[in-house]
Order: sequence, then structure tokens, then C-alpha cells
Amino acid sequence: MRSGIGYDIHRLTPGRRLILGGVDIPFEKGLIGHSDADVLIHAICDALLGAAGLGDIGIHFPDTDPAYRGISSMVLLERTVLLLEDRHFSVINVDVTVLAQAPKLSPFRHVMQENIAGALHVDADCINIKATTTEGLGAIGNSEGIAVLCVAMINQKETNSVEKLP
Ligand code: MG
Repeated sequence: MRSGIGYDIHRLTPGRRLILGGVDIPFEKGLIGHSDADVLIHAICDALLGAAGLGDIGIHFPDTDPAYRGISSMVLLERTVLLLEDRHFSVINVDVTVLAQAPKLSPFRHVMQENIAGALHVDADCINIKATTTEGLGAIGNSEGIAVLCVAMINQKETNSVEKLP
């Protein structure tokens, strides 16, 4: 078993959609980014890549590549899972903390969980999403941005099981 950590932060601005965990959330601002700026999914990608020893999201999906402009980060997550599966890794669980002063995320948590579980090929109860404010402190507290922390645990399957057969 191996573990990985992920962290990401994106700036909020008026006139952009707010996409978190693959869910389009009604809010007066959205996150700035080359892709759909789904900071929650980016943190999960980084935690998974970290656990697998595969670097980070910027190496695999550079924000200088026009191919990724406006792309759904759920696609990046699915591609991250393929990279892991190529190396015989499967996901055990993912734990996420979203740092956001607003909006309230609890109404969307279940759908996010289902979206992520589907992409990672695990049961929904293997995905945990928590949210907290920063009590109005700092840039997050001023709603200048949203940050996400993630820890992922993965497992590498036996690759020599065929040789063990009689
Ligand atoms: Mg990002």
C-alpha cells in the first residue's frame, strides 16, 4: 500500500462557472484556470500521482498545452486512473478537505462523491469530502480563492499471479 498527498489552490473571479468535484455549483464567482479549474479534482489527481510515484498533474497535463484548455478535470482524473491502472495500482480511499469561505458545499457533497467514486472505480464510501471555512481569515476567508487538501491510499496488485498458477 502507498499513500500520497495533494494540494491545490485557484483564484475566484466573477464571470466564471464554479466547478467542484465535477459539479457545477451556483455561485457569484468561479475559479480561474486553464482547464475548468476544478481545484478539488486537481488535488485528488496530485494525491493519486504522488502515491504512485508518478510526479504531478502539471507533468502529465501541462497548462501550456492547448489540448487541455477548458477541459473537464473529470477527464484528467479518468486519465490519471488509467496511468495508475497501467502500473497495476488500484485506489483504496481518498480523503479530501475543501477550504472555502463560501458557498456551502454540503448540498453537493453526495454528487461529488458519486462522480469521483465512478472515475476511480471504487464504492462511494471510499471517497470522503469535507469542507471548512477559514473563519474569515486570509485570502480564503476573503473568498479570493478556494484551496483543497487530499490524501489518497492506493494498492499495487500482484503482477506475477499468472506464474504462480499450476
Ligand atoms: Mg489546479
